[in-house]
Amino acid sequence: MQLLKTNTKQKTLKELLAGADAVLIGAGAGLSASAGFTYSGGRFERYFGDFKRKYGFHDMYSGGFYPYDTLEEYWAYWSRYIWINRYTDIPKPVYETLLRLVDGKDYFVLTTNVDHCFQKAGFDKKCLFYTQGDYGLWQCSKACHNKTYDNEKMVRQMTEEQKDMRVPAEIVPHCPVCGAPMTMNLRCDDTFVQDEGWYQAYGRYQDFLRRHQGVSVLYLELGVGMNTPGIIKFPFWQQVRQNPLANYVCINRGEAYVPHEIEKRSLCLDSDIGTVLEEFCSAEPGK
Ligand SMILES: [Zn+2]
Repeated sequence: MQLLKTNTKQKTLKELLAGADAVLIGAGAGLSASAGFTYSGGRFERYFGDFKRKYGFHDMYSGGFYPYDTLEEYWAYWSRYIWINRYTDIPKPVYETLLRLVDGKDYFVLTTNVDHCFQKAGFDKKCLFYTQGDYGLWQCSKACHNKTYDNEKMVRQMTEEQKDMRVPAEIVPHCPVCGAPMTMNLRCDDTFVQDEGWYQAYGRYQDFLRRHQGVSVLYLELGVGMNTPGIIKFPFWQQVRQNPLANYVCINRGEAYVPHEIEKRSLCLDSDIGTVLEEFCSAEPGK
C-alpha cells in the first residue's frame, strides 16, 4: 500500500463538516497529549521522580508495565497514575473544542483512550465506545467474573496513605468473588473483562455504522498512532473506501497520511490537534 501526504487541493475541514450527514470520530493517545495529558518529560518527572530514580524508566507507560515485587508498590505507582490521568481536570480544553465542532451533528466516538476525557468534556456517554477499558475501573486479575468496579475512593485513599512508594498492605484490593488481586480494567492481554457497559457501547457503535451505510459520513481521526492501527485507523480506511460518499480527515502531528485509494476524499493535517480545532471554531460563528 502506498501512503501519501495529501496536497492542498482538497476540500477544507469546514467544507467536509458542512457536507457530512454524520461524523465518526476516532481518537487515540495524540488527542489527550494535545490536551496536556503527556506521559513523559516534566509531568512524569513531577509525579514519578522517585520511581524513575529507583527503576530507571523514563515515562509513565513503562512504569505501568514494570513487574513490581510487591502489590504495595504496584498500587503506589498505579494509584498516582490513575489519579493524575483520570480524576484531575484536563489541562487544556481540546476535548471541549471538539465537542463544539460536532455539536448538533449526528456523531459517534470510537476511542482507544482510557482516561475518561470525553465524558469529562461533556460528550454524551451513549455516543462513546472506549474499547480498551478505563483507568477508573478495576477488575479481577483472574477475570473470574465479568464485572468492573469504580476505583475513585480507593485510589484517593492509596495516594493519600502511601509512604516510601508503598501503600499499606491492608488496602491492597482483592476480588470479592475469588480473592485474587484486583487489577486495572485495561486491555493488555486476554484477561480483559468486557462488562455489560462495554457490550452496550459496542452495540451502539455497530448500530451507528449500520444506520450510516451509504450516507455522507465524515471519518475524523485524531491522534491515532501505529501502536494498535487495527482498532481505528485500518477500519476507518476500509470503511471510507467502501462508501463513496464518505470522507476522511486525519489530524496527527508527524503521522498524518492516507492510502492512495482514498486520497481524493481525504484531508491530512500534520499539526497539533488543539491548534487546528481552535482555529476552526474561532473562525466559525456560534462554534
Ligand atoms: Zn476473581
